[in-house]
Amino acid sequence: MSTLRFHALKESLNREPKKINEEVKRSSIFGQHVFDEATMRQCLTKDAYDSVVDAIENGTKISRGIADQIAAAMKDWAMVKGVTHYTHWFQPLTGATAEKHDAFFETIGNGLAVEKFGGNQLVQQEPDASSFPHGGIRNTFEARGYTAWDPTSPAFIFGTTLCIPTVFVSYTGEALDYKTPLLRALQVVDKAAVAVAKYFDKNVKKVNASLGWEQEYFLIDKALVASRPDITLTGRTLLGHSSAKGQQLDDHYFGTIPNRAMAYMRDLETECMLLGIPVKTRHNEVAPNQFELAPIFEEANLAVDHNSLLMDVMEKIAERHNFKVLFHEKPFAGVNGSGKHNNWSLSTNTGVNLLAPGTTPMSNLQFLTFFVNTIKAVYDNEELLRASIASASNDHRLGANEAPPAIISVFIGEQLTKVLQELEGVTKGKLSPQEKTDLKLNVVGKIPEILLDNTDRNRTSPFAFTGNKFEFRAVGSTANCANPMTVLNSIVAKQLIDFKEEVDLLIAKKDLKKDEAIFNVLREYIKHSRSILFEGNGYSDDWQKEAKKRGLSNNKTTPQALKARISNKTISMFEGLGVMNKVEIEARYEIEVEEYVNHIQIEGRVLGDIARNHVIPTAVKYQNILIENVRGLKDIYGDNFKDYAVEQLILIKDISDRIEAINSGVTQMINERKLANKIKDTSKKANAYCEKVKPMFDEIRYHCDKLELLIDDELWPLTKYRELLFTK
Ligand code: ADP
Ligand code: MG
Repeated sequence: MSTLRFHALKESLNREPKKINEEVKRSSIFGQHVFDEATMRQCLTKDAYDSVVDAIENGTKISRGIADQIAAAMKDWAMVKGVTHYTHWFQPLTGATAEKHDAFFETIGNGLAVEKFGGNQLVQQEPDASSFPHGGIRNTFEARGYTAWDPTSPAFIFGTTLCIPTVFVSYTGEALDYKTPLLRALQVVDKAAVAVAKYFDKNVKKVNASLGWEQEYFLIDKALVASRPDITLTGRTLLGHSSAKGQQLDDHYFGTIPNRAMAYMRDLETECMLLGIPVKTRHNEVAPNQFELAPIFEEANLAVDHNSLLMDVMEKIAERHNFKVLFHEKPFAGVNGSGKHNNWSLSTNTGVNLLAPGTTPMSNLQFLTFFVNTIKAVYDNEELLRASIASASNDHRLGANEAPPAIISVFIGEQLTKVLQELEGVTKGKLSPQEKTDLKLNVVGKIPEILLDNTDRNRTSPFAFTGNKFEFRAVGSTANCANPMTVLNSIVAKQLIDFKEEVDLLIAKKDLKKDEAIFNVLREYIKHSRSILFEGNGYSDDWQKEAKKRGLSNNKTTPQALKARISNKTISMFEGLGVMNKVEIEARYEIEVEEYVNHIQIEGRVLGDIARNHVIPTAVKYQNILIENVRGLKDIYGDNFKDYAVEQLILIKDISDRIEAINSGVTQMINERKLANKIKDTSKKANAYCEKVKPMFDEIRYHCDKLELLIDDELWPLTKYRELLFTK
C-alpha cells in the first residue's frame, strides 16, 4: 500500500468521535449571535427600531443619522460578545461567500486608539472587487463595485467577526451577486401576489415567498480526502472502481447515525442555533456516509443567506472533527449523489399559505388560483427553470437515473389531477348558477381531502406539489438557492401579473362576476399547461419519448441548458419585471459558461495527472513484478515455463493494453483541450469542452478502474471506494 494511503487509512481508523459539551436547551441559545428584531428592540431607540422595521417590511431607506445609531448599537452588542472585527458579507457569482474583515480599532492620534463603527461603514463599502467574476460588466480599469447593507437579513457574529449581509453591485448599479436579483424578484412577486390575493381578501398587504431547503452532503475523513488529489481539487472522485458493497442493501438510509457523524452534527447544530439558522431535521441519506440537514422554512431571502452561511459553517465545523464535507452533486460514481430540494410557497401577512388548500370554497378558489398559476408559470418557462439549476456538477445528477431527469415536469398527485380535470370539463364561458354550485361542491369542495392523502410518493419528479408547497427537487447540492429562487419567483410574478390583467379584462368587458372570471381564466390555463403535468416514473425511457412528443425540453448538459438564460423571451421577462437588465443577464450567462469550462478543464488536468503520474507508474511497477515472476518460472521450468505462467502472461499483456489505452486517451484529451482553448466564443468553447473533452474522462477512467481491479492492493496508491465510503 502506498505510504500516503496507508497513513491516511491508519489515521482515519484511529479517530475517536470528538467530545462535545452537554446538550443545552436549543431554544435558549437560538439567535444569540444574531442582531435580530428582539435584540434591536432592546438596543435601539424607538426611532431607529421603527426605521429598520419599516425598511424590512416596506423597503424604505434608512437615514444616515439613524444608520449611525444602529451601527453604534451593533458594535456595542457585538463587542460584549468578544467581537473585534466587522465585515460586509456577500455572495459574489463565484458561488462561495465573500468577506473582508476590518477591525473596529482605529487610532485617533497622540498614541490613542478607540473602537469605532459608524453608519457609513455599516451601509456601504468598496471592496477591491476586480477579481470577482463580473462577466464583462466592469473592466479592470473601472474595477469599482460596492457592497450595500441589506437590512432584511440580520447581522450576525461568526467567530470574532460581525458579519453584515450586503448586496454587491457595480459602480453603475448592475448586480454582481446572487442577492440583488433575488431581492428584486421577491419584491415583484410580493406586489403581483398581493394584487391577486386581494381578490379574496382586501386586507392582504404583503406576500412573502418562503423557502425551506434540504441540504444533502457527504462526510469523509479528512486524511482520506487528503490522500485523493481528485477530491481535494475537484470535490469528487474522477476515478475509482465501485466497492463490492455499495448502497444495494439500503442499510444506511434513515439508519442509526454513526457516532463521529453525530458528534459533528450536534456541534454544527449548536452553531446553527447561535446563528439563528433554525435547523430541525437530520438523518442518514441513501448512500454510505451521506447525510441530510433541513431547517424550518423561512422568508426566502433569509433562507438563502442561511443556506450559504450554513455551507460555510459546515466546512469550518468539519475541520474540528477531522472531516471534509463534500457538497458535490456526484462525489462517487455508482452511489447516490446529493441534491438540495427547494421547498417553496407564498404566504400573506394575514398568515395564509396561498398554496395550502383551505376548508371553504372561497379559500379553495384562492388556493387553485395560486396553484394553477404556478403550474402555468413553470410550463411557460420550463427551459429557464432548467437553466437556473445548470452546472457542471449537477449534470451528473440530472438524467442520470437517480435524480429527476433534465426534463422539467410538475407532479401534483392523483386527487388534484382529478380536480383539474373536472375544472377543465366545465365548458361554457359563463358558469350557470347551478354549475357554480356544483363546482363549489364537487370540485372545489373536494380539495381538502388531499390533506389526508400522501401526495409525496413520486420521488422522480423535479417539481412536485407536496400538500402545501411546491418542492423544486432538481436543485443541486452545491447550488446557491438564490439562482433558482430568483427564476421561480420571477416567472410566478410575471404569471400573476398576466393573470390579473386577464381576469380584470373579463370582469370589465364580459360583465362576469369576479369568481366566474377567475374560473374562466384558470380553466384556460389548465388546458394550456396540461403537457407539463406528469405523474409517472420520471426515470423511465418512456418519459423521455413522451416528453419529446409533448414538446418539453430535455437539455441534458449545462452548455445546452444555459442558452435559455439569454433568450429574447428571458431578457424581455426579466427586463419587464425590473429583476435584471440585458447587461446583467448576459454577464451572468458569460460567467456561468466560463465556470463550466473552468470546471471541466480542471477536472481534465487532474485526471490526466492521476492517470499518468499515479496509475500508470503503479501499473508498470506491478507489471515488473509479474515479469520478474515469469523470468523466475523460466529459470525453473525452462521452455515449459508458459504452462506455469498462463495467468501472469495474460495480466502482463492486459496491463500493457490498458496503459496504452490510458496514454492515448490522455493524449487525445489534452489535444481536445488545446483545440477548445483556442475557441474565442465562450458558448462554443463550452460546447467543445462538453462534447469533446469530457467524454474522454469516461474512456480514461474505465481503464484506470480496470487496473485497480488487477493490481496488487498493496501497491495501489489511491484510497479506494470501500475505504472512502465505509470508514465511519
Ligand atoms: P418532508 O418533505 O421531508 O416530508 P416537510 O414536508 O415537513 O418534510 O418539509 C420539508 C421541508 O419543507 C422543510 O425544510 C420545511 O421547513 C419545508 N416547508 C414546509 N412548509 C413549507 C412552506 N410553506 N414553504 C416553504 N417550505 C416549507
Ligand atoms: Mg422533501
